[in-house]
Amino acid sequence: MADMAVEARVVRAPRGSKLNTRGWQQEAALRMLMNNLDPEVAERPDDLVVYGGTGKAARNWESFEAIVRTLKTLADDETLLIQSGKPVGVLKTHEAAPRVLIANSNLVGRWSNWEHFHELERKGLMMYGQMTAGSWIYIGSQGIVQGTYETFAEAGRQHFGGSLEGKLVVSGGIGGMGGAQPLAATMNGARFLGIDVDAARIEKRLKSGYCDAIARSLDEALRILDDARRDGKAISVGLVGNCADVLPELIARGVVPDVLTDQTSAHDPLHGYVPNGMSLEDALRLRESDPEEYTRRSMETMGRHVEAMLELKRRGAVTFDYGNNLRTQAKLAGVNDAFDIPGFVPEYIRPLFCVGKGPFRWVALSGDPEDIYRTDRLVLEMFPEDASLRRWINLAQQRIHFQGLPARICWLGYGERAKLGVAINELVRRGEISAPIVIGRDHLDAGSVASPHRETEAMKDGSDAVADWPLLNALVNTAAGASWVSIHNGGGVGIGYSHHAGMVVVADGSDLAAQRLQRVLTTDPGTGVLRHVDAGYEEAIEFAKASGVRVPMMED
Ligand code: NAD
Repeated sequence: MADMAVEARVVRAPRGSKLNTRGWQQEAALRMLMNNLDPEVAERPDDLVVYGGTGKAARNWESFEAIVRTLKTLADDETLLIQSGKPVGVLKTHEAAPRVLIANSNLVGRWSNWEHFHELERKGLMMYGQMTAGSWIYIGSQGIVQGTYETFAEAGRQHFGGSLEGKLVVSGGIGGMGGAQPLAATMNGARFLGIDVDAARIEKRLKSGYCDAIARSLDEALRILDDARRDGKAISVGLVGNCADVLPELIARGVVPDVLTDQTSAHDPLHGYVPNGMSLEDALRLRESDPEEYTRRSMETMGRHVEAMLELKRRGAVTFDYGNNLRTQAKLAGVNDAFDIPGFVPEYIRPLFCVGKGPFRWVALSGDPEDIYRTDRLVLEMFPEDASLRRWINLAQQRIHFQGLPARICWLGYGERAKLGVAINELVRRGEISAPIVIGRDHLDAGSVASPHRETEAMKDGSDAVADWPLLNALVNTAAGASWVSIHNGGGVGIGYSHHAGMVVVADGSDLAAQRLQRVLTTDPGTGVLRHVDAGYEEAIEFAKASGVRVPMMED
């Protein structure tokens, strides 16, 4: 066993149609592992950290090199086993079985907490895999833009007759993830006002083209937004200010947003959220000099912030929590009705989950953007009736820069995914795409996650914490012949708070790939439909009946 320290190195996936391994399934795993660590993609590649705090692609550099070495020699009837980022064995299986099986960060229930995890991590026994970091299918910021786009689109469908065109969307926080909001809102045709205390964060979004304008006063911001309304234009404005000051000011002026949410970093009252009543510089000084006082003021400010959101909600703004724990903080600060604001998953994402819809994605192993543009045309040809999908693909082509291997994401459901996957395989077979395409998804999907504070919050039957579903998802995708399958703990919300599973399947243009794609891209969203049928969601029950998804308890 290698015990010499292996140095960090710059990693970039090979491009083109020449194999470095014994087959495209193995090659896809090799390129996607490397792509996760590409400096264009990963947050801290030297530490093997891809995204999400400490989400890693391999346990350490020795493990990384051993995975690469093994994938290069792995036969078409062998399966490599990865335990928390370390390759632990190769076993003989068969050609249609996964080439890699991955289990990351899983702990027995009673030991499943950060404390015990960190103890094991220090001993070199575990790694935090996040969701798509340790399962080798992260594609950079396109994922968060599209997820936010889809959430806003669903709000438009549910509350405004199909679209947010011309509507005023207001949110706080234009940081790392929240910075996707202005772009996602204008992609939906909305006028967007984003409040952030830190002008530098807004300026960063201006540079990346995600936000259109910056304003230093509410007057200036409202002027820009009014002009856009007159001209029938979508526009985004970043306003430098504190949410707890700006929202009450909107109330005082009688300005009620159509949609209201928040992505300030409320989950962390000390290192994230910024209290009002002082300048940002003074706040940063207080954070250093008196963390306790800072936290007290921060909590108090969150209380005011949520009180203003509740008042705007009462005045008609469609208001929802965006997964930053703001409601909990406000409740701790004494706002007893904070949870009158609904969470975004039960409100907007669950109806999509009921029909097996979720963040479906694919990556061109050639490295050639033309291959992705060819798949974009295919999507538009295959789903011409889906206006929101068409808008997303057209705008993504214009506004999203590829990071690492070119990739595309869009939300497709049960039936649609298999149809598209098989059609992509056909393009590879015909040579219209220059090398195989890898097809996968986030673990945040219809049937692959149990996470009671997020994806499975407030399930209809109270089954929020039941983790059997992601395990069944991984098992059936293995049986159906995915190229690699993973089971993780702790993604998104931390160790002990979630269980989730990933799958990736490769379209290499072969007949066997066509069969595997058809099966896996049916079983995978199929578990999503079943999970929601079982929880009693009418949409899922109707959908299962209409689509021929068999549910034993609904059969005579
Ligand atoms: P971030 O720290 O990069 O950005 C937060 C921004 O909020 C910063 O720009 C900061 O200046 C600003 N801010 C803080 N306090 C403020 C206040 N009182 N008024 C105005 N602006 C204020 O964080 P991020 O990566 O953008 O994530 C934001 C939050 O959203 C986090 O809590 C994160 O956990 C959550 N999140 C949820 C989901 C989801 O479930 N959909 C996805 C991603 C992130």
